[in-house]
Amino acid sequence: MTHKILAPGATIGILGGGQLGRMLSMSASKLGLRAHIFSPQHSSPAFETSAFSTTAPYADLDAVKNFASSVDVVTTEFENIPLETYEHAAKFAPIAPSPKALAIAQDRLAEKRFLTSHNIPVAPYLEIAREADIVSAIYKLGPDGILKTRQLGYDGKGQIKLGLNVDADEAIKAYGGEPSIFEQLVSFVMEISCVAARDYNGNIVFYDTPVNEHRNQILAESKVPAQIEPELEKLARAYTAKIAENLNYVGVLTAEFFVLGAHGETPLLVNEIAPRVHNSGHWTIDACSVSQFDNHIRAISGWALGSAERHSDAMMINIVGSELDRWQDFATSKSALLHLYGKGEARPGRKMGHVTYLYKKDAGEI
Ligand code: AMP
Repeated sequence: MTHKILAPGATIGILGGGQLGRMLSMSASKLGLRAHIFSPQHSSPAFETSAFSTTAPYADLDAVKNFASSVDVVTTEFENIPLETYEHAAKFAPIAPSPKALAIAQDRLAEKRFLTSHNIPVAPYLEIAREADIVSAIYKLGPDGILKTRQLGYDGKGQIKLGLNVDADEAIKAYGGEPSIFEQLVSFVMEISCVAARDYNGNIVFYDTPVNEHRNQILAESKVPAQIEPELEKLARAYTAKIAENLNYVGVLTAEFFVLGAHGETPLLVNEIAPRVHNSGHWTIDACSVSQFDNHIRAISGWALGSAERHSDAMMINIVGSELDRWQDFATSKSALLHLYGKGEARPGRKMGHVTYLYKKDAGEI
């Protein structure tokens, strides 16, 4: 793939203005590059840390054109940017990751089909296009499952968890008529993720694998290293590399996995792909000399990838909603490496910041 090597002072256009955009623009600025954030929200966390900003709806294609024409490369911090917006931006600037990567990650059905077509295992699922499909999905996969909308799903959004032995009537009541999938409930040992960065020449680096704990389907905590067999980490990396290669991916890509056990026939299932920097990689800011944010900026700028090596063990804890009330505990603790996102209202489920604790490398379980 041909690409330019961006020079100092070049501008990175970022679609989306949340905390990921904020941390990406901080990395850009550290590297002597500038960020231009495009976001529909007036008080976007990323505006505070970036040189330029555009506030406009994603559907305003003139604004998208002006934005993309004024930057040297476009990227995204959010997989649910409307595809039309992303494709339009791609007409006026180099873009990474590709619109194809975004299209696949936006649609759970397309994502599952893409993964299975490359022999990457996923949880058993069936497409739900109409009410009657729910009845047959429960019949075929059993009643313990999750109904997930195909689109606009992240952090458990667009999901209805159906408990043990839900009957079809309950499931139908929960179904809003949105194109969905019914996914079998997986009984996993743990959840892990693989955060990788790939450059224009196909070089790839992997951060060490964290183990992730979710509360209310939102990431609560990531710890690295995960106490897993080396073969499992190797397999997670092989799957992630396969995904990245088949998407001709440039930038940071994350694959989330369910671990079923090291010795079964299928030790890992991919839960989902995030075509972006990822919450389970936030510890890399403090525990690596080149963070996931630095490496995403480096990759899309045509620079060489930095090492993903970790100098410490780490635990990252998300600060969600009213947990922000504890900010003083963190702020007055020497060991709590606090990152706050500058968000206003601490609504339930809203990620307000995170805190990382570092430990001596490989000294034992955290
Ligand atoms: P998602 O938004 O699909 O990443 O789901 C958020 C979280 O919900 C996951 O990280 C899991 O903890 C849980 N979850 C999602 N799908 C399943 C499943 N099929 N079986 C068990 N837990 C699941």
